[in-house]
Amino acid sequence: MNLKTVTKENLFHTLAREKKPWQIDYLAMYSSQWQGMVTDPDLMTVPIDDHLVHRGDGVFEVMRCVDGSIYQMEAHLGRLEKSAKAISLHLPPEYGQVREIIKALILAAGEKNCIIRVIISRGPGGFTTNPFESPSSQIYINVIRYHRPPETFYREGVSLITSRIPVKKSFFATIKSCNYLPNVLMKMEAINAGSQYAVGLDEEGFLAEGSTENISVLSREGILRLPGFEKTLAGITAKRIFELAETLVQEKKLRSVRFDRIPLEEAYLASEVLLMGTSINILPVARFDGKPVGEGLPGPLYQSLSVLLDRDIRENRHLLTPIDWDSP
Ligand code: PMP
Repeated sequence: MNLKTVTKENLFHTLAREKKPWQIDYLAMYSSQWQGMVTDPDLMTVPIDDHLVHRGDGVFEVMRCVDGSIYQMEAHLGRLEKSAKAISLHLPPEYGQVREIIKALILAAGEKNCIIRVIISRGPGGFTTNPFESPSSQIYINVIRYHRPPETFYREGVSLITSRIPVKKSFFATIKSCNYLPNVLMKMEAINAGSQYAVGLDEEGFLAEGSTENISVLSREGILRLPGFEKTLAGITAKRIFELAETLVQEKKLRSVRFDRIPLEEAYLASEVLLMGTSINILPVARFDGKPVGEGLPGPLYQSLSVLLDRDIRENRHLLTPIDWDSP
């Protein structure tokens, strides 16, 4: 085959020829490789010899800017630092300005409702598994436009299946690394089964977590139960929802809130099942493995928590990082 040689001169001409509809929401990206930012999606690339690409050697975070302020930025950055530490990944010097870079990217993106993805990678350095090949870690940050899941998900509830994909063992599950293959296969499994979400079970058969969401279950006795964070990612949304649920306990709308081991059979008997995560907030499950959950409709706890979380995201000044939209 006579392969065309692509050069620096003709690369972007070649790239620009193709229509890439999936890039429509890509707004801005920073890379420590360039020490700067780009807004052209064709330039939003990482080097193939970064161990992030060929080994998944990196950690990441995803946070949201809602109506112009970033929700829970410090919690997300804290978890990112913890994940990096857990895999002995040094933070690159540019990480010192991460907050300023995120704000500058959002302003460049010009979008008040967006998703910010921060990746710390092992960095370029050859192609083996040896992390010491890479002289310096890198940071990549991108901002994309946020789209809420379809309204029907919130109004009618979603369908959930139990996944057959082996879940990550606790060490790996608690680190938000760029190794998401089990999570990817879980999502594929859900969609192939005509469902929207899947949840994994731990080695002992207790509920673990979804592809990118935590799960919690309201028992018929009025106890809100969440699988412990020793075996799942410590979800920032789930943690906050649990704090908000405490107010419902005080108001006697809920009996109690607790971390728990939840067998699948008990989850089937729940009056409500909820999925929680940064990109969905909180979603009611209407069907679980084909069986209706409770009445098969979003329940009253979902409604109450959803109102509380929504208010928190918009109004809780302690958890919001404002952006100076009037800056020149
Ligand atoms: N579990 C996994 C595996 C995830 O990827 C996510 C998304 N970060 C969550 C749970 C939910 O976490 P958070 O509420 O922090 O988005």
